[in-house]
Amino acid sequence: MKRVLITGAAGFLGSHLCDRFLKDGYHVIGMDNLITGNLKNIDHLFSEDRFEFYHHDVSKFVHVPGELDSILHFASPASPIDYLKIPIQTLKVGSLGTHNLLGLAKVKNARMLIASTSEVYGDPHVHPQSEDYWGNVNPVGPRGVYDEAKRFQEAITMAYHRFHGLETRIVRIFNTYGPRMRLNDGRVLPAFIGQALRGEDLTVFGDGTQTRSFCYVDDLVEGIVRLLNSDCVYPVNIGNPDEISISEFAEEIIKLTGTDQKVIYEDLPVDDPKQRQPDITKAKDLLNWEPIVDRSEGLRITYDYFKSLSDEELYRKDHQTFEKYIIR
Ligand code: UDP
Repeated sequence: MKRVLITGAAGFLGSHLCDRFLKDGYHVIGMDNLITGNLKNIDHLFSEDRFEFYHHDVSKFVHVPGELDSILHFASPASPIDYLKIPIQTLKVGSLGTHNLLGLAKVKNARMLIASTSEVYGDPHVHPQSEDYWGNVNPVGPRGVYDEAKRFQEAITMAYHRFHGLETRIVRIFNTYGPRMRLNDGRVLPAFIGQALRGEDLTVFGDGTQTRSFCYVDDLVEGIVRLLNSDCVYPVNIGNPDEISISEFAEEIIKLTGTDQKVIYEDLPVDDPKQRQPDITKAKDLLNWEPIVDRSEGLRITYDYFKSLSDEELYRKDHQTFEKYIIR
């Protein structure tokens, strides 16, 4: 039986990956330090014989007994609010954490797939973003801790591939949404849906002309599985090219939720990218992959999930008290 280690297993993407690899017959070892992850996302897996969970911070030495075929490194804070609250942990998990896991992959002779991000393109001067664009990142801005950690992560992963001959894969993930996103992590989709559910106005930052392209989580997971099983060593974008402005997106959420609240405009965060859309030619050509869930369908499923949360979850400011876990 194949064995896979998934870091960030209690997070949004990590938990969906655990589901998928269990469904595909793997033995799944999940790891998470639970700073931004939530055990509720994987509660349903603890009864499964082929699932194990380690409560561990991958920025420290990682030990996993037994063989490993693959490692998927998905541990990282992933929203602008999180980077501001836990900037040093964000840097460490992308750099030290990746280094530890590459070392583990080398010892186990495992294939390593790292979760990179469209943030490596920064506020892009090229549109849509293809993998050969090197990006426009501000290293000293608030997003720098995430963007530069992810850029370093790609560099060290390529170095392990070139120097040690390690089998490596790099996925550049664009905005993704679906059930199990954290309601109050500040990202736009949970922010808007949470506001609608609480009867608050929807906060659009800036003038709302900035664009994003949202991919449903099941499509992303399918792309990741195909990439892992491919021989593509260089980064591959996985995302949905269906681009929308944030103010149009707010209108879609208003329609979806039937809220009678209005849109209010607030200041644009520093270094907020003006536009973002993946060029997925490479994924289409090399992985025969493209997204199949359109936004209306994906948003409906995601809205049903958020509606099912308790009032306590709906009104809580954070799902976790970061301070409790932070080791400075
Ligand atoms: N945004 C917004 N209102 C919110 C939260 C976010 O208008 O309540 C905007 C944000 O400024 C950005 C876009 O929505 O332009 C997407 O933000 P998110 O944090 O989801 O992701 P990222 O900026 O990393 O793509």
